[in-house]
Amino acid sequence: MVQAVQSTIQFPYKRSLGPVVGAFMTALTDRRIIGIRSGDRVIVPPLEWNPDTGDELAHDFVDVGPAGTVVSWSWVARPTVQHPLDHPFAFALVQLDGADTTLLHAVDAGSIDAMSTGMRVAPRWRAARIGHITDIEAFVPGEEPVMPAGDGGPAEEPVTMMDYNASITYSLPVTPNALRAEQANAEGRFLGLRCPECGRTYTGGKGYCPVDALELTTEHELDLPQHGTVTNYTIITPVQYPGQTETDPFARVHVWLDDTDVILGYQPLLDTPNDDVRIGMRVAAVWASEAEKADLAATAEGSLLGWMPTGEPDDDDPSLVNRIQ
Ligand SMILES: [Zn+2]
Repeated sequence: MVQAVQSTIQFPYKRSLGPVVGAFMTALTDRRIIGIRSGDRVIVPPLEWNPDTGDELAHDFVDVGPAGTVVSWSWVARPTVQHPLDHPFAFALVQLDGADTTLLHAVDAGSIDAMSTGMRVAPRWRAARIGHITDIEAFVPGEEPVMPAGDGGPAEEPVTMMDYNASITYSLPVTPNALRAEQANAEGRFLGLRCPECGRTYTGGKGYCPVDALELTTEHELDLPQHGTVTNYTIITPVQYPGQTETDPFARVHVWLDDTDVILGYQPLLDTPNDDVRIGMRVAAVWASEAEKADLAATAEGSLLGWMPTGEPDDDDPSLVNRIQ
């Protein structure tokens, strides 16, 4: 059985909306949907620029809908956490009454059999609206907008910014080699795999030599040295994005393990002021004790805490800087 590890990458950020999309979002808080005139057309959602000529449009907004017609749709049978509804629904292009373009939104029709091109739909508003497209929870079949009990009312100030949380979750199979490398890491060892053809050594449970296209298995394993030389470094000034726990500039170093071709990139350097970090430093691996392991963040990569200067004389080989992988 192949094991898999599930990972989620998130990129939370804010974007400014500008005078046109901002007006659209502000109107949503008032349970209104607005478009913008562009020549003899009404564009919804409104754009700042004429899509045909690129000319800036006057801020000539017009209320549209609230009902409209489904022009095209696609059924989402198994919604993910990223979808606007937690049960099957349709993504649809809805041409609102009075609009000449379509708005992409969810239609909550109950079943795929209730969906059809040309069907009439109207918005189901949220009670609490923040100036986001999801202020319309979904469109529903019919002509009448659905208003929930308890109305939060329109925004007191124009909506100018939008929070956005880009996120993707994916699964990667974990190979037996990777599992063994991780187990070795938990025991305070670097497990290597040496290619019998070219003699190169790899870490991290890589199951093949990419040069010789040769499979590497347990018979090619060896323990790698715990000492190495810094070949490159970066002093990182942390940006305070959500989830960032570092507040002061810190170093990450590339460590070339002795007597191997292995470079471990972006490693923490322990007990060293940033001004003292330099290429050629001799360092040794420091592993978490059993007690420390319990305190390691779930996101930590194994039990390697980082690298400690050994105090040996620096390696002054000028070509070290070229070794980054
Ligand atoms: Zn090889």
